[in-house]
Amino acid sequence: MREKMIMTPGPTAINEEVRKEMANPITNPDLDLRFFDFYKETSESLARLLHTKNEVLILSGEGILGLEAACASLIEPGDKVLCIDNGFFGRGFGNFVDMYGGECEYFSSDYRKPVDILKLEKHLKNNNNYKFATFVHCETPSGILNPVGEISKLLKSYNILTVVDMVSSIGGEDVFIDDWKIDIALGGSQKCLSAPPGLTILSVSEDAWGKILNRENKIIGYYSNLSIWKNWYNKKKFPYTQPINDIKALNKSVKIALADDKLIEKHKRIAKAVRKSIINCGLELYPIKGYSNTVTAFKLPKGINETKIRKHLYNKYHIMIANSLGDLKDVLRIGHMGENCCEEKVYLTLKYLDKTLKEHSVNLKDKLHIQFEKNLD
Ligand SMILES: *Cc1c(COP(=O)(O)O)cnc(C)c1O
Repeated sequence: MREKMIMTPGPTAINEEVRKEMANPITNPDLDLRFFDFYKETSESLARLLHTKNEVLILSGEGILGLEAACASLIEPGDKVLCIDNGFFGRGFGNFVDMYGGECEYFSSDYRKPVDILKLEKHLKNNNNYKFATFVHCETPSGILNPVGEISKLLKSYNILTVVDMVSSIGGEDVFIDDWKIDIALGGSQKCLSAPPGLTILSVSEDAWGKILNRENKIIGYYSNLSIWKNWYNKKKFPYTQPINDIKALNKSVKIALADDKLIEKHKRIAKAVRKSIINCGLELYPIKGYSNTVTAFKLPKGINETKIRKHLYNKYHIMIANSLGDLKDVLRIGHMGENCCEEKVYLTLKYLDKTLKEHSVNLKDKLHIQFEKNLD
């Protein structure tokens, strides 16, 4: 039997080299000084991937901790925060703003399109009294890629700090934190980086540290309080015991990503062929424009139930793809990021998805995998 393939938009498949790192003997990370250097080296590798000189922290907790930590550390009671919402995660940011006593204002737009920079500019001309703004690079549930560089530079021109969820783009899309002037960028280990779930990575600019360290009110919480990390290396003191093996695995996965000088091109090439295959076979992509290169979301024909399709594909052919989140019904998603961004794996996924759809009496115009291969250039 062919091995199971986890072709979801996170967690993604894990490279054997990365998986083996999890089995390393452990040390005491609070007492073994070499571990401080190992953590620092991992942060610096991540900074290279993010194109930033800002400090990069690795927090113990899955990507959601990054959203919460940014809100907990920046918000003081009554602060106004702009939550840019054109998808599930963009909307969800507002919940964390509320939770920590901020006043959330949504700038909402079509979930099938990227954020319209001209409309945002218009909004900001009349409303710009925000401490910071939150937005999402890749809206994983809908497969939308937002122009976060343009959005961030625009916000910074109004002196608004920027907090960006890049959980499903770091390691799969171009990311230029410093050029784009992003104050807090956050990501997770389990998406394009293809390390096990459990870690958040988060870069913090000088402007953001300034706000975090000069507050009138104390930060509520501990794990989500970024100020506990200040000067950890010089003091040789971690705020809590580090998950060594998770960090070892992450270190390896970042090295693998950095060693691939065609990393982003590869994601673009495969994503484009997946989209063309879906369209040419007569299915409909969920986004109308602004397509992600790490995940593709598409609609099933009316009357075809996504759960049945997914279960059949997994139970009979051992390939797991994902449904969507929130209100997106009968949308399926293929995660072609990180270790999943591989011609052979995507080919097999489409081949067996094609078979599954046939077995549910869906007649496509052509075969998905044949179209995929034809459109790989
Ligand atoms: C995966 C993901 C997260 C983390 O969410 P989980 O549901 O806990 O995996 C946050 N933001 C985005 C954009 C994501 O894709």
